[in-house]
Amino acid sequence: FAQFKLVLLGESAVGKSSIVLRFVKDQFDSYRESTIGAAFLTQTISLDENTTVKFEIWDTAGQERYKSLAPMYYRNANCAVVVYDITQAVCLSLPYPSRPSAYLANKGYRQSSLDKAKAWVKELQRQANENIIIALAGNKLDLVTEQPDKRAISAADAEAYAKEAGLLFFETSAKTAENVRELFTAIAKKLPLEQAGP
Ligand code: GDP
Repeated sequence: FAQFKLVLLGESAVGKSSIVLRFVKDQFDSYRESTIGAAFLTQTISLDENTTVKFEIWDTAGQERYKSLAPMYYRNANCAVVVYDITQAVCLSLPYPSRPSAYLANKGYRQSSLDKAKAWVKELQRQANENIIIALAGNKLDLVTEQPDKRAISAADAEAYAKEAGLLFFETSAKTAENVRELFTAIAKKLPLEQAGP
């Protein structure tokens, strides 16, 4: 069946590995260790009786110090999932090497995880394969379902941005599985199934 390379990008701790774990193994684990470098997994999805799509999934580490590795993973990717955390208004990640003064002085590091996601989208649109299919995923939906005041990023704002930038958009929960399968199915449906492969 048709095989496609998919890369996950986004700030660390937004839930990239958890989304992959949910999609591939239908599990959730709150105590997983963060990804070092990148991890590789595969999963297939059936769109109908005759159509099965196989994803080769590259889960990248979000930390600043691994950022220079990302192009290696997205360069020949067919699709990308750019993840942010809908409960996270400010990213606390430090530049690497860690310089607290730079962190305090530079507003660039005081971004929401959606701002970081937008930066990834821009980079993909400039430097990845021009036919790449990009999906934006606002993760940790379960947290705002329980407590609406935990929401830091409005769904309407993110959706408007996604529409303007030509991205698929879902709010997901790796914890409850909400919209995780839908996300990958929507991507699979947009892939050029007649000309498979990276
Ligand atoms: P990554 O660094 O982007 O790969 O993020 P991880 O998958 O390691 O997740 C970071 C933390 O967020 C972990 O403690 C996860 O258990 C938690 N997490 C991930 N997805 C969800 C989610 O959908 N809901 C909730 N409540 N927590 C999540």
